Amino acid sequence: MRKGKGVFKLNKLKGAFVFFAFQNAGNDLVWRKNEMQKCEQLYEGKAKKVFLTDDPDILIVSYKDDATAFNGLKKGTIVGKGAINNRMTNSLFQKIEKEGVPTHFIQELNDRETAVRRVEIVPLEVIVRNVAAGSFSKRLGVEEGTVLAEPTIEFSYKNDELGDPLINSHFAKALKLATAREIEIIEKYAFQVNEILKVEYLKAGLRLIDFKIEFGRFHGKIILADEISPDTCRLWDVESGEKMDKDRFRRDLGGVEDAYIQVAKRLGLEMESK
Ligand code: UDP
Repeated sequence: MRKGKGVFKLNKLKGAFVFFAFQNAGNDLVWRKNEMQKCEQLYEGKAKKVFLTDDPDILIVSYKDDATAFNGLKKGTIVGKGAINNRMTNSLFQKIEKEGVPTHFIQELNDRETAVRRVEIVPLEVIVRNVAAGSFSKRLGVEEGTVLAEPTIEFSYKNDELGDPLINSHFAKALKLATAREIEIIEKYAFQVNEILKVEYLKAGLRLIDFKIEFGRFHGKIILADEISPDTCRLWDVESGEKMDKDRFRRDLGGVEDAYIQVAKRLGLEMESK
């Protein structure tokens, strides 16, 4: 039985998440009560913890306030970041899904936790750029802020020990990180996501400079996974050019928490005040 999209209610009761969703009953869709049990932790990453559930196809991600940069060399805390990144990712993933790019999003459970489809992550960091910045500017000697003639894409091999080295699609195929067909789909989705995000951020008075996304395989199909947040996007204020993203943390610019809160507010995200 497949869980439908029409989830309308959700409460946390004694460790079990109770929700109502459309489910297939023969040819009919009916509302059914579901219970999903949160089980043991599967993994703890730099910014998120991941928990198993009693459904082998569903995981729960829990966003932390921990921040790292430069492959974990710089560590800190951005108070409230976990809740902002959770809400922001979920809101953007739902918009992206509506535009035809499948995602791992199932249901937000509370301010920090979300139920997602369990995927096998494709070990590629997919970076799309509209404007030169960061490592692109350094590597190619292009001044930060230079508008690129067209959006561009690059791949890094997701490997902390090697420091996520830059590779191309031929390396990815040769190393069997992804097939030619998967790379074709990933590139198509990544540029589609760029167009959707550019519009959404512009409505919030933000320029999308660049971003990193990750994809996974769900029952053989490529879907968008991981997160989209100020941790993974460069966002500059349209008017002032001020950086409103994790570069404030990376480059010790101050006002990190305020920038994240500002982005959430401008995107119209409802945040619980703490
Ligand atoms: N990025 C990310 N995780 C990484 C590396 C990069 O989310 O491990 C994002 C980063 O926030 C930026 C984009 O990908 O929006 C491009 O980053 P870049 O390659 O310029 O690297 P950086 O200058 O951050 O080292």
